[in-house]
Amino acid sequence: MNPHVHGIHHVTAMAGNPQKNIDFYVGALGLRMVKKTVNFDDPFTYHFYYGDEAGAPGSIITFFPWGNTGLRGRRGNGQLTVTAFSIPGSSLDYWMERLAKLKIHFAGPYTRFGEEEVLTLFDPDGLELELVASAREKRPGWENGETPGEHAIRGFHSVALSVESYQRTAGLMSELLGFRRLKEEGNRLRFEAGEGGPGAIVDILNQPDGFRGTMGVGVVHHVAWRIKNDEAQLQLREKLAQARYSVSPVRDRNYFHSIYFREPGGILFEVATDPPGFAIDEEPGELGSALKLPSWLEPQRREIEEHLPPVSLPK
Ligand code: ZN
Repeated sequence: MNPHVHGIHHVTAMAGNPQKNIDFYVGALGLRMVKKTVNFDDPFTYHFYYGDEAGAPGSIITFFPWGNTGLRGRRGNGQLTVTAFSIPGSSLDYWMERLAKLKIHFAGPYTRFGEEEVLTLFDPDGLELELVASAREKRPGWENGETPGEHAIRGFHSVALSVESYQRTAGLMSELLGFRRLKEEGNRLRFEAGEGGPGAIVDILNQPDGFRGTMGVGVVHHVAWRIKNDEAQLQLREKLAQARYSVSPVRDRNYFHSIYFREPGGILFEVATDPPGFAIDEEPGELGSALKLPSWLEPQRREIEEHLPPVSLPK
């Protein structure tokens, strides 16, 4: 058993208004709401999961919407600062037209590493996103979303981690997590895990003069890396503990099992198992349509539903 991670599992961020969050990620970006649940540690707050048709690892962005009163965060070192979604190499024009039509401001396209075209944009809470068009993208697109299947977002392309000095973060990634260092451009160091390609790419942005970020609305809370199963996760947990990382016990997140630790640059890392996935408590065709609660919160369902603001999916 190889106790290495093999790509991005999910990214979790803080949002403000829950309906605006849905309208942007489902309505504008065309992702599927694959799970509507609550923050297990604060059940009167929603937890939304968006992804591809099945909610495959590598496509999942999740949000805790704090409502309109949430304190804004500040993007900076010690955070995942850019979440990049992947689109087919031929879909750049479609997306530029779509964003313009929806009056979503974007910058670009510009070329990165001589092989991918990048658009930069922000979600309604100021979370920085990219759409990356790359010929390496081979995953299928969801046919029933707000965007046609041929142009639909496939999942993540990559994430960018901002740190004050890259060496120790890079060391953790290559020595313990199993990433390969690929190349660099300016202050950007690119790594790949597993089979590589979109969904398995991580860039470290070395920013020695950057200020430190603060947590809050519009900022990423943590990134989770994929691991094959519980056994590999336990082995990796042991290796991290031996290397003196303060790593959490395995937590049951219902749709995956997770361990957490902070990397040397200050970013919260999670390692999450691929199984069991989002079809564990909903039929694949029904994903995201009902409010799902873990068994221990079911007795409080009525109270929880009365406290949560009503939200709806586009159409
Ligand atoms: Zn997570």
